Amino acid sequence: MTKAKEKPRLGLYSLTSCSGDILEITNLEEDLLKLLDLVEVVDLNVAMPATGLSPDIALVEGAVTQAEEAGLLRGLRKKVKYLVAIGTCACTGGVVARGPKKRKGWLRDVYPETGGDFTSGFPRPVSDVVPVDFSIPGCPIERNYLMHCLGYLLKGVVPEVPNYPLCMECKMKGNECLLRYRGLPCLGPVTRAGCGARQPSVGRPCDGCFGAYEDANREALTEIFRQMGLGEDEIKKRFDLFWERG
Ligand code: SF4
Ligand code: SF4
Repeated sequence: MTKAKEKPRLGLYSLTSCSGDILEITNLEEDLLKLLDLVEVVDLNVAMPATGLSPDIALVEGAVTQAEEAGLLRGLRKKVKYLVAIGTCACTGGVVARGPKKRKGWLRDVYPETGGDFTSGFPRPVSDVVPVDFSIPGCPIERNYLMHCLGYLLKGVVPEVPNYPLCMECKMKGNECLLRYRGLPCLGPVTRAGCGARQPSVGRPCDGCFGAYEDANREALTEIFRQMGLGEDEIKKRFDLFWERG
């Protein structure tokens, strides 16, 4: 009797985050069953004891704030074929990396008694600690885009990253442009496509969680925002939610 072919092994790891990306994966519904047909989950550090088996593909969500998290990443890097950052916190630091200069004051305001005791470091993207083979941004990740990328990785191919603006996906959905026709400060013109225009499709301007595509013209969009009557502070706040660095 021939031995059944072993499935590729998948590990899911949550660092400092809301665990929203792992939650999206556990909520894949029918697609989760399809995924579990294709892979063996050997690690899910927020929900099951480690099996001791090394994954071929590691999906890592969250920013790095603890020495233990950096150690976990270095160990994974030595073992896995693909180390994939999932979710905006893992890809860029995300919302948890806001306000690098205001952080101490925020901690004091929110935790007046214990704020000084926090020892966590400033949130860093995974790529600050180890090389990353691929990044799947999103706050949280978009399920269809995740499945698309995993399909490629399971075939041993690193997928191409969409290098065009979210507006293209938005137009393909037939949405009315919120920037042009409703005067809402949408970041779609400078944001990388991939989410399927999740927010504009329900009437909310994009906040830019997928990050900028190459050559995105932030200056031109800033000028459009000025012409719409937004002040410099409001414009900065629009870009700062996911893009503030330093
Ligand atoms: S609503 Fe936003 S994403 Fe859609 S076309 Fe307009 S600017 Fe682009
Ligand atoms: S519409 Fe913008 S903010 Fe919303 S998920 Fe897509 S890229 Fe992220």
